[in-house]
Amino acid sequence: MNTRPPYLVSACLAGKACRFDGTAAPHPAALRWLSQGRILPVCPETLGGLPCPRPACELRDGRFFDAHGTDHTQAVLDGCAKALARASEAGCRLALLKAHSPSCGVGDIYDGSFSRRLISGDGLFAGLLRASGYVVLSDEDVWM
Ligand code: SF4
Repeated sequence: MNTRPPYLVSACLAGKACRFDGTAAPHPAALRWLSQGRILPVCPETLGGLPCPRPACELRDGRFFDAHGTDHTQAVLDGCAKALARASEAGCRLALLKAHSPSCGVGDIYDGSFSRRLISGDGLFAGLLRASGYVVLSDEDVWM
């Protein structure tokens, strides 16, 4: 029996079609760990009640906007809190998260102008995990 705590993983990396455009972003390590029963997949945006598909969003001044200027921050914060509660309950300490997402992005995210420009910073969920003491890794930094 595997008694190690699972890795927390962005659900889209584990093959769930929960991205804004209705697609998944399967990652080899996440899929292998999934087959071994070693991950807890979560999607903070859909946990917060955002539909799938949904408008693309970016962070601007810490708020979560779509390109029409609609503010979805509260829904995403609700989803982040639910995802963090699941992770804490499962004893997760390490998270593998989807690069550049306004929720899951680690280290750099789009700048809020919807022009594909990256700036330094974490997505809302990645930042919450980091502040809560988790080790957070971007999927772009994990190849195994
Ligand atoms: Fe994937 Fe995170 Fe976006 Fe959900 S919020 S689709 S888990 S990157």
